[in-house]
Formats: sequence, structure tokens, C-alpha cells
Amino acid sequence: MNKQGLTRHAALIGSNNSNIHLFSKNKYNYMARISKQELERQYVINKKTTTEISRLFNCSPSLITYYLKKYLIPMRPYKDDITGQKFGKLTVLNYIGTKKGESKWYCMCDCGKATEASLINLRRGGIKSCGCLKSEIKKTHGLSDSRQYHIWQGMKTRCSNPNAIKYDQYGGAGITYDERWESFEAFWNDMGKTYQDGLTLERIDSTLGYTKENCKWANYSEQNRHRKRWAKPVIV
Ligand SMILES: [Zn+2]
Repeated sequence: MNKQGLTRHAALIGSNNSNIHLFSKNKYNYMARISKQELERQYVINKKTTTEISRLFNCSPSLITYYLKKYLIPMRPYKDDITGQKFGKLTVLNYIGTKKGESKWYCMCDCGKATEASLINLRRGGIKSCGCLKSEIKKTHGLSDSRQYHIWQGMKTRCSNPNAIKYDQYGGAGITYDERWESFEAFWNDMGKTYQDGLTLERIDSTLGYTKENCKWANYSEQNRHRKRWAKPVIV
């Protein structure tokens, strides 16, 4: 850069600011040197954003972020401050920074374990605990890998997934299940008491859907007999 250019540039950003030393000038001044004192003045005291400060020093906002980290100045969130807010079991303690475009927050779970979560994930309910909540849900019935759980899954699939085997005889034929049975817990509350290994879930009236009133546990032969008796007449 020639002398004239440098003078012009220095005039742009304020030539009497001794905290800035210029090394190059393209679109941004990538090599701008910003002192800790100056950065604290702008960021902490004047509460300017990284973008505002970057304009002041004619450098990229990421360089300001770089200096904030280098000088160990705690970063403020870009827009929303959710410090102290509670999401499920998580209480937000402080802002960490932006990673891959998402603002990350340091949270404390009710169980005492700390975890990191993104704002977007917290807001949409994608994360509600340090991970202990999932294990809690499993603990409530402890049957996620059991025969009864697979029976419940099979019932839902037959009624709702067009790709399922026999879908045409279930979902495709208008057979539905109780909305509450979307959750295994509700299904198990209704049907768990009478369950026995070896029995299958049967609809008492096979023209009706899966509900507490219309379901019982039966052995295979009983179920097959039943199915024939109640089979829907085929309309041609
Ligand atoms: Zn936890």
C-alpha cells in the first residue's frame, strides 16, 4: 500500500487512535490490531455489537470475535439473551458462543449435570435435559425392548404405515387405534394388567379399531377363529 492510500485509510477509521495499527487494506483490514482495553471499552462498556465494532475498525466481525476470545472477554449472545430461562429440566447459565451458525448455551440440568445446547434446539423442545430424561422415560415402563412393546409398535405400524405388511387389512381398511395409544405408556396403562406372554393383541370386533374397549389378549387360535367370524363382508 502506498503512503497516500494508508493516510486515506487511517483518516477513515480515525488516525489518532493509537490502538489500531494498519498492516493491509483490502475489503477488510484483516490484520487490525485491537487492544484489550479498547475492545472492552467498545464491547463491554459501550455495549456495541461485534458488527458495530468491526465497522469501527474496518475489519471483519469474525476478527472481533477472535479478539474477544483471545482477551477472554465473555461474549454476549447476538440477539436473544436466555440466561436464567428454563427449558424442561435445563436452566440456562450462560452463553458460550456461536458454532456453525447456532448460538450455544451452557445449561445446568435438574439432576446436576451440565450440558451444552443450542438456542434453536432449546426453543423447539428438542432438548429438555442433559440426557437423563430419556433414560427416565425408559425407566417408567422399562419395556422398550420387550415383546409387548413390539406388539404395540406392530399395531401402530399396521394402522398407519402404508408400506407395512398387511396395511391393506388394517390402516388401508380404515382400522385405526385410540389416539392416546400413540404413547406406549397409555397403551400399557390400559392393556398391561391382562397381558400374558404368548398372547397376542386382538380386537373383539374386528370391524372396529384398537381401543381399550375393543381389545383383549388372546392366543393365536382364538384370534383366528374370531377373525373369521367377524370378517367384514367383501363388497363386490
Ligand atoms: Zn440431567
